[in-house]
Amino acid sequence: MRPKTKPGQIRIDLHTHTCISDGTDTPAELVANAARLGVGVVGLCDHDTNDGWDEAIEAGQSLGVRVLRGIEISCELDRVPIHLLGYGTRKDDPELAAELARNRAGRSQRVPTMLAKLAAHDMPVSEEVLYRHVGDSPSVGRPHFADAMVELGYVIDRREAFDKWLGDGLPIYVGRYSTSLEQGLELVQAAGGVTVVAHPWGRASRDCLPPEYLASLVRAGVLDGIEVDHNDHDRPTRARLRKLANSVGALVTGSSDYHGVGKQDHDLGCNTTSAAVLTEIDRRVETRGGLL
Ligand code: AMP
Ligand code: FE
Ligand code: FE
Ligand code: ZN
Repeated sequence: MRPKTKPGQIRIDLHTHTCISDGTDTPAELVANAARLGVGVVGLCDHDTNDGWDEAIEAGQSLGVRVLRGIEISCELDRVPIHLLGYGTRKDDPELAAELARNRAGRSQRVPTMLAKLAAHDMPVSEEVLYRHVGDSPSVGRPHFADAMVELGYVIDRREAFDKWLGDGLPIYVGRYSTSLEQGLELVQAAGGVTVVAHPWGRASRDCLPPEYLASLVRAGVLDGIEVDHNDHDRPTRARLRKLANSVGALVTGSSDYHGVGKQDHDLGCNTTSAAVLTEIDRRVETRGGLL
């Protein structure tokens, strides 16, 4: 269901994906879908790559949708995956670009091991089939494996692939290199960007991001905001997280984490961010010399 919007109020969805990582829309399709649904601002946050920015921005200019440049960096804390959103980073920042390349290399390096595991479980997938699903993405992810498994009839959809085989700790799971959270926070701000921790209390990351720790990152100035309204957070979780964010002055964002048809229950615009928070993100990006 669409959140209610007052007349004149703009709908802002700050976390979306395209086929440049593990979503299914092209960047232009994402923007066209936003325009169709009345979402006026989209944050494009593909995993470990910003290759989709230019196409999305061009589409946005012709369709009247603002595209906020974003990225979702695969980070880790004590080996637990943490997703970090960065907004407004300079595309040409060499340190950030090098670190994103390291993450993408880690993604590619695990491919042979995962294919071998699939074969060992009587679900052979050739490189050719896998990379057909990877398509234009420089950032190969488990959802691409899931799509290949669907094509070959091993599972019905991405969800079943994750629930039975690909999820953390399951038989086909293989770990990969990820940026340390501390380094990710530093790199984003040094590249002019604003840092927001994605779905911090969803699934695995909850236990390693206790309230005191999140608060300390905000107080230290390295974490700008917290993604509170996300469908991995139930109502009580959102309430607790919002209270925490407000008590330390963190920016509160809400987003769909849209992946096209690749992820259920994450419809574009299903959660939104206030215009005041977007204005503050813009202000910080401008102050830090980032890219708006
Ligand atoms: P990876 O980037 O290879 O670690 O794969 C993780 C990605 O898989 C996340 O970004 C999610 O978008 C996606 N994912 C995780 N669980 C599911 C699921 N049950 N259904 C569809 N996509 C999922
Ligand atoms: Fe994803
Ligand atoms: Fe994420
Ligand atoms: Zn995401």
